[in-house]
Amino acid sequence: MRRFTVPPAVGIVIPVFNEEAVLPELFQRLAAVFDAHPDVKWAALLVNDGSRDQTAALVRRQAAADPRFKLLELTRNFGFQAALAAGLAEAGGDALVTMDADLQDPPEIIPALVASWREGADVVRAVRRSRQETGPRRFGMDLFHGLFGRVADFPIEANTGTFGLMDRAAVDALNRLPERHRFFPGLRTWVGFTSGEVLYDRHQRAAGQPQQTMGKLVRYALDGVFSFSYLPLRLLTYVGIFISGLGFAVGLFFIIRRLLGVEVAQTGFTTLVTLVLFIGGVQLIGIGVLGEYLGRIYDEVKQRPLYVVRREPRQP
Ligand code: UDP
Ligand code: MG
Repeated sequence: MRRFTVPPAVGIVIPVFNEEAVLPELFQRLAAVFDAHPDVKWAALLVNDGSRDQTAALVRRQAAADPRFKLLELTRNFGFQAALAAGLAEAGGDALVTMDADLQDPPEIIPALVASWREGADVVRAVRRSRQETGPRRFGMDLFHGLFGRVADFPIEANTGTFGLMDRAAVDALNRLPERHRFFPGLRTWVGFTSGEVLYDRHQRAAGQPQQTMGKLVRYALDGVFSFSYLPLRLLTYVGIFISGLGFAVGLFFIIRRLLGVEVAQTGFTTLVTLVLFIGGVQLIGIGVLGEYLGRIYDEVKQRPLYVVRREPRQP
């Protein structure tokens, strides 16, 4: 149980990219939650990830009207993970809540996250009891969560996403992780600490279009796998061993037949073509997997910062 002599400060970090349609409702529902819990000092930091619509202007107007809302502007669209990292690095508070802007993560759950934190949990994960996505998006998400739990180097809980709360100590630990390809749920688990869970129902996006395209989600899933697992490399080794073993066995078979005086077949064009294509394919996949790791190593070596902050507020 955490005790505070002054109200604890809780920051809400929300990356926003072209979210003008959903912002009015987000502000209104967040403010309602803040008003209902005056025992906490609230601040919402909206990280504008290079929006091309009225997002920045709307946040600025809200910040002028209600000082509990703040705007952090990046110089361009760096992507959700980078924007989240920017918010976590720049936001103050004894604890930080991380959430999406589109109200798929309902702000009304935030007090439950804070309550769990005040009970002593350092990292509180909001766990989806249900989700609303359908079609290929849903299929991909289920597939990812099903597989990822098995391939990751340490257990990463299924059915959790960005939504959650981290104590200052956990945030500082996370901010010290320098890696460029960030998979937030994995990093959050990686830092450890005492964890807590709050169940919730994931809603439909309140307004606007998903800003994470399928392509971005696939890249994000790959980041999760390649950042937290050597399994792809290990699989290649296994496949290599298997194929070499097979080759050896087939070779032995023909040698023995020759020694026994059985005529070796002259035909076998189909077999040959199939084998050549198969081995060629496996080798290319191998190079591709190596490339995934190599590209990531290259990104790390370049040491570029994750994001750039635009200090001057942009004119609307
Ligand atoms: N977002 C962002 N930068 C991007 C894409 C998305 O900051 O390049 C934000 C977006 O505004 C939202 C959150 O990331 O607050 C999640 O995006 P979305 O709802 O489109 O993704 P999904 O719910 O499909 O994961
Ligand atoms: Mg969403």
